[in-house]
Amino acid sequence: MNLEQILNKEELTREEIIFLLGLTARDEIESLFKKADEVRQQYCGDEVHLRGIIEISNYCDQNCFYCGLREENFNLSRYRMTPEEIIETARLITNFGINTIVLQSGEDHILDTDLIAYIIYSIKQKTDAAITLSLGERGFDEYRTWKIAGADRYLLKHETANPKLYSAYHLKQKLSDRISHLKFLKILGYQIGSGNMIGLPMQTIDDIADDILLCKELDLDMAAIGPFIPSPHTPYRLKKPGDVDLTLKTMAVARLVLKNVHIPATTALATLDEEGRIKGLNVGANVVMPDFTPTPYREQYQIYPDRKCMNDNPLNCRACLQIQIESIGRRISSTRGDSLKLSPQQITNWSFK
Ligand code: SAH
Ligand code: SF4
Repeated sequence: MNLEQILNKEELTREEIIFLLGLTARDEIESLFKKADEVRQQYCGDEVHLRGIIEISNYCDQNCFYCGLREENFNLSRYRMTPEEIIETARLITNFGINTIVLQSGEDHILDTDLIAYIIYSIKQKTDAAITLSLGERGFDEYRTWKIAGADRYLLKHETANPKLYSAYHLKQKLSDRISHLKFLKILGYQIGSGNMIGLPMQTIDDIADDILLCKELDLDMAAIGPFIPSPHTPYRLKKPGDVDLTLKTMAVARLVLKNVHIPATTALATLDEEGRIKGLNVGANVVMPDFTPTPYREQYQIYPDRKCMNDNPLNCRACLQIQIESIGRRISSTRGDSLKLSPQQITNWSFK
């Protein structure tokens, strides 16, 4: 089978995915990107969804080998935003016409069940935004409480679909647990996001093919695929960063395989490549997740160094994104950008007003 035939297949086998990820000829890679862009157009249209991130705490009880927030990084000064600061920042985000708030943090159990529930409930009272939680692996009861409080979505990346690598990067955690958490979140009615990093130490192309297949098996609503960036004061500080082209190829193949999912052009990609956001949006992505964490906290959320747009203020950031998105003939969505898999009746959008 030639490349053209593979690109036009409805379903790709693992071998075909590996073949596409391994493409090296520029014209062949461009054919893959063009096809992914067409599939994105067909399933998502031209709208780009913005999700405003608030990094509510950089405390973390985990020790993921790749991440600058790991518990054993004693060089990082730690912060935890107050509920009032978080709720106010959420309101500010919606004033910019952004209708999804992502609350992200390390696994910080001081942000306990009730506190997070209070924050979710308060944001829901004050705004019409969807709320995505990205707080790491938490208790099943906590997920349930937060859903009842009004949370809409949960983002928990599987990071790698290779269980051996997963155990090498996370000494205390198992891939099978992460998968159980994602399945439980889906049962609770969350729209679920997961995904993986490209270029993690010891990772192979076969592992990346399995990442894409796991995203399919999990029936995700969003698949976030971004490059690994070595972070100081971590065991992987001297490792090589993920390859930008391989990241773009993976996003493109993910679009061909997963079809009606949201795929973000990640900040990590934009950090490694000045044009990363545009490149991502041109190879299958339809989401951008700008950072609205207020200073001085933002500088301290150092998952990896030199994050793109670290010094932008929210007004500039919104305007800059609009220019970039419109420059490629796309437009910013004014909707919540819910799952592409659910009908409006299936989406729980509880309002407490
Ligand atoms: N604690 C939560 C959310 C914060 S971490 C969690 O782990 O889910 C959010 C994401 O940052 C992780 O899922 C991981 O994919 C990404 N990340 C961590 N370290 C990174 C690094 N060095 N380079 C690129 N992305 C990284
Ligand atoms: Fe903590 Fe998440 Fe970083 Fe792991 S990836 S150390 S859980 S913040």
